Amino acid sequence: IIDHRATANDQPGSNRCHLDFSPHIQASEQHTPAVCRTPTNHHPFDTSINLIMKLVSLCVGLALPAGALGFVAQPMQQQRCQPAVQDGVWGVRGSSTMRYQQATQLFAADALNIIIAGAPASGKGTQCEIIKEEFGVVHLSTGDMLRAAVAAESEVGKMAKDFMDAGKLVPDDVIIGVVKDRLAESDCQTNGWLLDGFPRTQAQAKALEDAGVDADCFLFLNVPDEVLVERVVGRRTDPETGKIYHMTFSPPEDDEVKKRLVQRSDDTEEKVKVRLEQFHANVDAVKDSYKDIMVTIDGNQAPAVVSKEIGAAISSKTSSA
Ligand code: ADP
Repeated sequence: IIDHRATANDQPGSNRCHLDFSPHIQASEQHTPAVCRTPTNHHPFDTSINLIMKLVSLCVGLALPAGALGFVAQPMQQQRCQPAVQDGVWGVRGSSTMRYQQATQLFAADALNIIIAGAPASGKGTQCEIIKEEFGVVHLSTGDMLRAAVAAESEVGKMAKDFMDAGKLVPDDVIIGVVKDRLAESDCQTNGWLLDGFPRTQAQAKALEDAGVDADCFLFLNVPDEVLVERVVGRRTDPETGKIYHMTFSPPEDDEVKKRLVQRSDDTEEKVKVRLEQFHANVDAVKDSYKDIMVTIDGNQAPAVVSKEIGAAISSKTSSA
């Protein structure tokens, strides 16, 4: 029943629960069908209506496509389906008799949890922006969290700064606590999460497992080292918009933007070598922890192609879950 970005807008105790989607989502649904999950303990009324509709369609000899039945419930567990639209309210088949309470519980229970991994500059940041928009999950980049902690001169930031400046990994015990606390917050519980840059070591993967944190899908972006170095060295960020540029592959639109671009202090040829060493020393152990849910994506392709493959990978993992 659930599209992760939907919100239940009926009152508690109400007998009906329509799911409202934002205008952005309505637009994106046109090319990406929602991930819908129907409750297994659906109301018996759903089944009766379903049976009647099936009988009617059988009698008149019509093969009624399930989608044409609109709000009629389908006892399906998890599958991609196109929500029905009525007067601007997006309802998902199966929602019509579901109670508010049930719906909100299901949002949390069925929230999508994704891990994305890959070497420095493998394209995680770009893809995370798209995944976040498409699936409505909370994006947690440990690199961004740590940079914010350094800028704020917090305790974590003070502990992390020297490691980050040297291109080295921050000690596990520093980062593990930060991530576990953040994952426990209500937005992650309700909307699901996209972990970017974590876990990066075997100990971090083990910490998630010990905390009972499960992911639905582990995306691995594969890019050859020589391409990564070139990407890192030319990478710049616009501090005003957060947009990432590459001086050769995706240069700034005009001189005004160009003037304000900044380079990350660890995006130098010298430091990326250290970062790549750290990455290669740990990646196999991390991949091993997630081999059942891992999908490897060729990250050495145009961002739009990578994004399409990621969308398909997430869907394949969520519909087979
Ligand atoms: P990249 O993946 O390009 O190296 P990030 O922005 O993800 O960049 O991370 C920047 C830096 O933050 C890393 O080089 C490391 O020092 C620190 N860091 C981020 N995530 C972790 C982590 N899970 N464990 C240890 N250190 C981390």
